[in-house]
Amino acid sequence: MARESKTARAERAAEVYDLLAAEYPQAHCELDFVDPFQLGVATILSAQTTDVRVNKVTPVLFRRYPDARALAEARQEDVEEIVRSTGFFRNKAANIIGFARALVAEHGGKVPRTMAELRALPGVGRKTANVILGNAFGVDEGVVVDTHVKRLSSLLGFTRASTPEKIEEDLMELFRRERWTLLSHLLIWHGRRVCGARKPRCEACAVAGLCPSSRV
Ligand code: SF4
Repeated sequence: MARESKTARAERAAEVYDLLAAEYPQAHCELDFVDPFQLGVATILSAQTTDVRVNKVTPVLFRRYPDARALAEARQEDVEEIVRSTGFFRNKAANIIGFARALVAEHGGKVPRTMAELRALPGVGRKTANVILGNAFGVDEGVVVDTHVKRLSSLLGFTRASTPEKIEEDLMELFRRERWTLLSHLLIWHGRRVCGARKPRCEACAVAGLCPSSRV
């Protein structure tokens, strides 16, 4: 097969985006939250586990610790008990308490709105910062690259890279900035519902005609 030009890839990527947006008009962040603080905590807890599992513990957590000030004063053992079922609970409890303490100490208890300030907070990497900026503040600063985004970007021929950082760069080059946040939701929704890791259901896929890995 002839190598696809950059322009052809960008056009195909835009078509894939439009088809997925039509397929999943309700696509959104599946972590439950009501404010940037809750989204930050939920995202830190979501490492190595599912959004469904996180959504089971956060109502209990936020009833007891409704804001950064409350969580900053929490006892580590009490928080561990609540977040235990999300796995790596000692680290996660320490991370969310550290996150809350830094918000109180450096930002008046509020979540900052810039990548640099977010990255400086304990437990917050580029992916978590992108989740917060895109979903709590509506700022398209980057593309969240999780396991689904990584797999689908490669299957769909959007990237040949294997590291999240490089995949994100490729996606940012391929898609218009105002699409970055929704792009990752669309790929995640498609990955969860149709293009699964074990067995992609190409026969039921809305973008099979544009996918170089299609089996149909
Ligand atoms: S055609 Fe198959 S491999 Fe390609 S995105 Fe659809 S389900 Fe995934």
